[in-house]
Amino acid sequence: MMFQIRCAGCDAPGAAVCTTCRFALLGPRPQPGSHGVRAALPFTGRARKVVLGLKYRNRRQVARHLAGLVVNAIVAVGDQHDLDMVTWAPTSDARRRSRGFDQGELVARHVARQLGVPCRRLLVRSGGSATQTGRSRIERLHGPEFVARPGLDGRRVIVVDDVVTTGATLRAAAAALRHAGVVEPRLYAVASTPAGSAASARRRPGLAAPEPTLVA
Ligand SMILES: [Zn+2]
Repeated sequence: MMFQIRCAGCDAPGAAVCTTCRFALLGPRPQPGSHGVRAALPFTGRARKVVLGLKYRNRRQVARHLAGLVVNAIVAVGDQHDLDMVTWAPTSDARRRSRGFDQGELVARHVARQLGVPCRRLLVRSGGSATQTGRSRIERLHGPEFVARPGLDGRRVIVVDDVVTTGATLRAAAAALRHAGVVEPRLYAVASTPAGSAASARRRPGLAAPEPTLVA
């Protein structure tokens, strides 16, 4: 069977993200939510489809394009200035094993390259390889715990994740980085779920929304 490149957004043959979808992804960026995370795209419609495309064909080209949109969001507020490095909020070991890679890391590496700063692994999950079902109720409600590499005093860091829902993951990452001395970590995601879904998750704490899984 011949391998053919298809658009992650509309399945048209020819490019990993076609021209029509590139324009469609240039719509207004979501407002940063109460979680303080700036996202390049809403996790809806065509944008959602392209983000989900990270898991499938032409992953690297899709990641490069999405990273470019994150860079636009960074530059729009001037966060590229006085920046020392880019990092990511690592996914659980179990999820990374099942996917074969970490989507946050993939996008973070492209973002760093495009900004001309190093990308460093600064965070580890202190919960080890616990999966969603193995996590405590507290952890499900408040997000994972991270530990940051020591010796980051005064460093200025951008943290990248793929999709933000409640912001718990990036908030936990930011807390660990602050503890290690990072000055006001700047939080970015490729996409954010509409405010309504995070709000409804908050209204039903017994059914805490997991960070969206792209495994489906
Ligand atoms: Zn397309």
